[in-house]
Amino acid sequence: MAFAKKHVGSPLGGEVMNGQVGALPMKTRARSNLSKRPARQRRITEQVTEADMAQSSVIGAKAKNGNGHASTKSKRSKAQTAGIKVTRHFTQLGIDPLEVMESLRSGAVQNGIDLQFDTRYVNSEGTSVFTTRGTFEADFVINAAGLYADQIANDYGMSQDYRILPFKGLYVYSSEPKGAFKTHVYPVPNLKNPFLGVHHTLTVDGKSKIGPTAVPAFWREQYSGFSRFRFNEAFQILKDETRLFFFSGFNFRGLAMEEIRKYRRKNLVNESSLMATDVDIKNYKTWGKPGIRAQLFNIKTRKLEMDFKVQGDERSFHVLNAVSPAFTCAQPFAEYICDRVGTKFV
Ligand SMILES: Cc1cc2nc3c(=O)[nH]c(=O)nc-3n(C[C@H](O)[C@H](O)[C@H](O)COP(=O)(O)OP(=O)(O)OC[C@H]3O[C@@H](n4cnc5c(N)ncnc54)[C@H](O)[C@@H]3O)c2cc1C
Repeated sequence: MAFAKKHVGSPLGGEVMNGQVGALPMKTRARSNLSKRPARQRRITEQVTEADMAQSSVIGAKAKNGNGHASTKSKRSKAQTAGIKVTRHFTQLGIDPLEVMESLRSGAVQNGIDLQFDTRYVNSEGTSVFTTRGTFEADFVINAAGLYADQIANDYGMSQDYRILPFKGLYVYSSEPKGAFKTHVYPVPNLKNPFLGVHHTLTVDGKSKIGPTAVPAFWREQYSGFSRFRFNEAFQILKDETRLFFFSGFNFRGLAMEEIRKYRRKNLVNESSLMATDVDIKNYKTWGKPGIRAQLFNIKTRKLEMDFKVQGDERSFHVLNAVSPAFTCAQPFAEYICDRVGTKFV
């Protein structure tokens, strides 16, 4: 059986991890023993029963060999014996996010919702919303624009004390065959930071990746090169980040330096190797597409907001900070928003 049995605790009680509720500690290749024993000695051989195999095909949590059969050889957690805490997810399914979005889209259309894609909000006046595809009349507006949520909220007289700071996230993909990792391996978060930190993620096709980074970006959509560069935006962000670097209400400098280090593949891989055995830099060469986090920054306290932040009144509602809700939290959060529409917030 490949699962380590011991529960390695988390400050969150192992129940909520990066918005993923019900996280039972479980791991594949999860590592906590920092001893210098060679990797081979650290492996053990474990029996995988028919029942385990059947289960593995369902939850994708067992190693398989090249023929797609469950392997009798498995890498074992070292979380029991040393200081690194690792949470593990028995119940985590591989889900294709594109399929989920397609299902949500078709459900919405079936329910008579008119979806307009590639339509950018430009500004608004009264009940008129001006977009790149014409003007829409709206008695009530819900703003969930991520990186630009603060700017849209400003148009409605909200988010006066807040601005979005962009943080760039990158993953490195493993070239190991499918099944080398059997499940996600997550660290216990450092509650001083808004980001979980580097973890091993199993992709829906059975491959694995490590990351993400959370490096301060200089403009909101700094995906690559100078694409989508906006001078005014970059100027403001650079000003905010420089101020934070020297006078933040938290250790921004430490966070920034720690994250910038991860731009080096070697450092990223090293950090991930604290959680799993046999993590070899040779297998991690391909960077994935970047994503940018919309992290809310409180201008008055000079701190990052660590929790959900919403504002609204009788004509608009604004999701200013939607920090890593994951699927399990995103749905109830959407219901919460619907319940609160039209009610006044402070
Ligand atoms: C690398 C990385 C890894 C992450 N990993 C996780 C994870 O494992 N688990 C987790 O829960 N979260 C994770 N997150 C965070 C998660 O992506 C965010 O919390 C979540 O996407 C926020 O959702 P949202 O709908 O508020 O904003 P977004 O997902 O940013 O959506 C905003 C939408 O508004 C649109 N928009 C913006 N401006 C305008 C405009 N002017 N007009 C019209 N439309 C506009 C954008 O195009 C976009 O479609 C990760 C983020 C990154 C960058």
